[in-house]
Amino acid sequence: MRSKLIQRADLMKLASIEGLLDRRKLPILRIKTEILKTMTNRLLERGFYWILPIMLAKATDPLWPDPGASIEKRVEIEVYGVRVKATQSMIFQKRVLVSLGPEKFFIFSPNIRIERRDRAFTGRHLYEFTQLEVEIAYAKMDDVFKVYEDLIIESIKAVKEKCGEELKILGRGELRIPKTPFKVFKRRELEEEYGEDWELKLSRDLNDPAWVIDIPREFYDYEDEETGMWRNFDLILPEGYGEVISGGEREYEYEKMLRKIERDGLRRENYESILNLAKRGLLKPSAGAGLGVERFVGYVCGVRHVAEVQPFPRIPGIVSEL
Ligand code: AMP
Ligand code: MG
Repeated sequence: MRSKLIQRADLMKLASIEGLLDRRKLPILRIKTEILKTMTNRLLERGFYWILPIMLAKATDPLWPDPGASIEKRVEIEVYGVRVKATQSMIFQKRVLVSLGPEKFFIFSPNIRIERRDRAFTGRHLYEFTQLEVEIAYAKMDDVFKVYEDLIIESIKAVKEKCGEELKILGRGELRIPKTPFKVFKRRELEEEYGEDWELKLSRDLNDPAWVIDIPREFYDYEDEETGMWRNFDLILPEGYGEVISGGEREYEYEKMLRKIERDGLRRENYESILNLAKRGLLKPSAGAGLGVERFVGYVCGVRHVAEVQPFPRIPGIVSEL
């Protein structure tokens, strides 16, 4: 990140209409457009279906247990006499669709996560943001790495080629095109080297994005019970921008998922759809991930706060009229 200290006054201004008058806003939105176009085109060229998001459902991502989660409250409302939750990610819809519908697809999925107010100052958190979610039947971690490495490299190339002026205005003319394959680190080794808060320390040491594998978290990510290794991953950006993608191979066996749901203290009745499919042997193994669009665009643009890439910023604790 460009600067460590973000003041509350800066955030208030950023979240107001004044933020739209900032001379950096238009170049950022131009670059964001180029990135969205490039990513969409690459996925379509590779035969991915384009699925539109849903926003309300009885089940959504529990975001638990996830060491990085910091939700202050869950958004729930009643529609037609039924309590529904605002989408925190489309993981369960993705798992069902990849099993019964198209075997590879992407979704630009709006997420509502009411992050704790102190997260306003990390420069990385919003209470509404968009994930570029992908899911692929029978895929492994490596397949998903390749998809996102291609999206990242091609969109940085496109921005450098077509938005040179904008990058200059943003002081980002020197942005690197990373080399593939990205490095892969093991979470356990990072803990030994950096301690528990390895994410940002690693991020500051990196020159190119890097994968971190084997991260204990939600029950739906695949856990190899013999080795204790989780077949999941994060992608960490350089320069202190931190995590931009989380994903993994997925659980598909009924008994194992039930055990993990119980272990995590979750209510099984929230996950009946995928449990039911698994019981009938219809839940396909798959792998997928979600990329935080604002975080990625923010990195490319060299922003101080990820909210700079939103026309109507959603900064934790700051609620504006628009
Ligand atoms: P998660 O499922 O929590 O790993 O979220 C997937 C991706 O969405 C993350 O890797 C981030 O890039 C992005 N993301 C998660 N939470 C936020 C947030 N509060 N604000 C902005 N982006 C987020
Ligand atoms: Mg994550």
